[in-house]
Amino acid sequence: RGGGSAEARAVQGDTLSAQGGAPDLLVLKVGGSLVSDKRADDGIDAAALAGYARQIAALVRARPGRVVFVAGGGAFGHGAVRELRPDDPFTALELTRATFTVKWAWVDALRGAGVAAMPLQVAALAWDRRPAGRVGDADPRTVGAGTGEEVQADRTVLRKVLAAGAVPVLSGDCVLAADGRLRILGSDHVPGLLLGAGFGRVRIVTLTDVAGVLADGPDGTEVVPFVDPDAPDAAHDLVWESASWDTSDAMHGKLRALTSHARRGGECLILRGDPDGTDLTHLLAPLTDWPPTLPHTLITRRTPA
Ligand code: ATP
Repeated sequence: RGGGSAEARAVQGDTLSAQGGAPDLLVLKVGGSLVSDKRADDGIDAAALAGYARQIAALVRARPGRVVFVAGGGAFGHGAVRELRPDDPFTALELTRATFTVKWAWVDALRGAGVAAMPLQVAALAWDRRPAGRVGDADPRTVGAGTGEEVQADRTVLRKVLAAGAVPVLSGDCVLAADGRLRILGSDHVPGLLLGAGFGRVRIVTLTDVAGVLADGPDGTEVVPFVDPDAPDAAHDLVWESASWDTSDAMHGKLRALTSHARRGGECLILRGDPDGTDLTHLLAPLTDWPPTLPHTLITRRTPA
């Protein structure tokens, strides 16, 4: 990769993702909808967790130290932030407790599948970097879009956990801003912490309850294969209205997060998760080697093959 500063090399490394190939780092998010009922305030499906943990264990055996896991908040996460008090600067703090419960459930399942999994609190690694005058209004749901500019992180511990061959288990959280308020960093935005930091080609895969962005409505089957992160409006136009219990704006929120990651060099994919699935190892392979019939939405600066 040549010389230059660590950050310059990092940017160069991330730019390589624009040329395809196998990823150097896989950031895998499993959406809350796959393991819980987000209309409820809590509850997590232990059998589904075990199913995904089994599949993730195979990925980690294939590429130890190259897999980061992000847990969607699910019922716990959405339940924690449904009612926020604008007069309390720490009103989002409940999210830290709720998402730790979710991380712990995943750590339990992953360790049960033989994976050395380590829960890391995003609030202890990351902060809202904007100066006090620029953090915006009192709404704690403002951080995230354009994460690279808004959120800064110290990746030292992440790097060490990966170097030990273990899997960092992350989740959405609240992060401290310069005005002394906590802001919510949703789980779809968390993979951005791994970009621009010298991890090489970063692939961000979000497993959810749909096979990608659907072009033909809630009961549809037509998956949009590619979204240009510099022109995402057409994809946003396909998104139907979120249910009122959904605090992360469902597919709009996902698209905003993933297009932002893609503009920063990430290769992002939305796919349907299956707790009884047998093989996720294609997630470590170049896209050209993927099963040809596997529906997915790719969001990246690369022109699709
Ligand atoms: P999280 O854990 O962050 O809540 P999640 O994986 O559970 O994430 P959602 O935030 O619920 O996912 O986003 C997926 C949902 O987006 C789908 O279940 C679907 O109802 C909704 N959606 C709206 N418009 C579309 C569309 N055009 N294509 C696909 N899904 C869409």
